[in-house]
Amino acid sequence: MSDQEHRLEADFVVVGAGTAGCVIAARLSENPDNRVVLLEAGPVDGPEMMAIPSAFAALSGTTVDWAFRSEPQSALDGAVLAYPRGRVLGGSSSINAMAHIRAHRSSYDDWVRAGASGWGYDDLLPYFRRSERTDGPNSRWRGVDGPMQVAVSAQTGPFTLALRDAVVGAGIPFSNDLNGPDAEGAGWLERNIVDGVRQSAADAYIRPVLADRPNLTVIAGALARRLLVSGERCRGVEYSAGRQMYRVEAGREVIVSAGAIGSPHLLLLSGIGPEADLRGHRIPVVVDLPGVGDNLQDHAIADVVYSATKPLVHDGDVERSLTVMMRSDADIGYPDVQLLCWTFPSCPPTVRPPELGYTLGVVVGRPRSRGRIRLASDQADTPPLIDPRFLSDPHDVQVLLTGLRRAREIGSAAELDEWRDTEFRPGPDVREPEQWQEYLCDDTHSARHPAGTCRIGDDDGAVVDTVLRVRGISGLRVADASVMPSMVGANINATVLAIAERAAELIGSAAG
Ligand SMILES: Cc1cc2nc3c(=O)[nH]c(=O)nc-3n(C[C@H](O)[C@H](O)[C@H](O)COP(=O)(O)OP(=O)(O)OC[C@H]3O[C@@H](n4cnc5c(N)ncnc54)[C@H](O)[C@@H]3O)c2cc1C
Repeated sequence: MSDQEHRLEADFVVVGAGTAGCVIAARLSENPDNRVVLLEAGPVDGPEMMAIPSAFAALSGTTVDWAFRSEPQSALDGAVLAYPRGRVLGGSSSINAMAHIRAHRSSYDDWVRAGASGWGYDDLLPYFRRSERTDGPNSRWRGVDGPMQVAVSAQTGPFTLALRDAVVGAGIPFSNDLNGPDAEGAGWLERNIVDGVRQSAADAYIRPVLADRPNLTVIAGALARRLLVSGERCRGVEYSAGRQMYRVEAGREVIVSAGAIGSPHLLLLSGIGPEADLRGHRIPVVVDLPGVGDNLQDHAIADVVYSATKPLVHDGDVERSLTVMMRSDADIGYPDVQLLCWTFPSCPPTVRPPELGYTLGVVVGRPRSRGRIRLASDQADTPPLIDPRFLSDPHDVQVLLTGLRRAREIGSAAELDEWRDTEFRPGPDVREPEQWQEYLCDDTHSARHPAGTCRIGDDDGAVVDTVLRVRGISGLRVADASVMPSMVGANINATVLAIAERAAELIGSAAG
């Protein structure tokens, strides 16, 4: 690394051009008086298949993936799990499965009960609406003129209709709009796809405006290494690009939007975190904040996989898919299990999948297991230690097993006889508790939704206050999936968009 330093100045520096960072940089730069710099570790563009919806799974492990690995999972017999995260303009929204779904309102109302006042469902509703462009009526629930195109595909294949009939036949009601007031039951999955092509947060928020905004500078290939703090104020960011070191100064604020892994990592590298851990890595302590990296939550998922007798889709890019939000226990008052239905067999890398098949992925929607992000070294290029502690809380095991049994009922329903060959995984012989336990160790993995590692709150374990300012330091906020106090009961990208829309408004309207 050269000693040469280059300096740049801005009003706002946003670190990380993922889902949240793209929203925040775009919204702040709508005001021509705001000079905004957006730093992204990855490149501007990725492989061509990034645009192809059905190719999303193939993006994991490519140049646009950080390709993290988890720590050995103690509740999964020591399994080390893949932990993909987008490393490209658009961040994880450039490699995700494009599902766009809000959680049941209880998820957000729980945040308020946990000390995040201002972040309940009714508070967030205007920001969900602001982010989205649907072709339905402009209503209290849905937006029509936001940047993210949100739609159910117009084409439905016969297999998916049969699957819907099997779900409804199992007693699960059908909701006409899971993103509306009826957020429970089965429904068609809305996705961020425009004319058959992926729409990432960068495609929606940054690419359309970049050429016309001289006050918005996007710097790709820029790894933020450290926040620059003097006194009790954050004044900028030190980053590297290639072998050069650079600094960008923030006249007003630095907003860290590096995601649920990257944001706590950068704070820790900068001396903001649990004092003992920082000292263990000889990092000077700037603020002793014990909650940084703590409270890691993710959706654990395990699959029931069937081999199929014939092809299930004609065009996987455009045909619609089904999801189900259901309860593991009728009395709990909200859905806590999500079924993700795929028209391909989803198997661990060690298992050769059948040529044709379908998958009912069972997600623990409201996990109680809590994990942690810790430093492995004081160097920004060394990935942090990621320990989601999947299924470490027995409640999550029970929820997952209940969901898997329910998925199996649906998968073996008469409505699917024509399509089903055999239950490929776990296999019809798996019935006893020990067999299920063994299957969970073999199959459970991340639904790729880490969150919660810089949570909002008003207690000592909180990292940011209710307007996302890092506690104990001025000029610094965190805004991305990491600020969620607890995991929401659905795929999280729509929620991150709403968090970022609200964050941009809070930041833009704060006194300069
Ligand atoms: C394979 C996959 C499939 C998924 N499928 C879905 C889905 O279908 N629906 C859904 O709702 N959610 C899905 N998700 C999750 C969803 O995409 C993420 O939760 C969401 O994008 C997180 O947004 P974020 O802004 O918090 O972080 P990210 O989008 O991950 O953005 C963080 C950005 O910061 C950059 N960064 C990190 N550290 C630094 C640094 N030190 N310096 C500079 N830049 C840095 C990263 O490169 C990245 O661009 C999926 C995720 C993955 C990985």
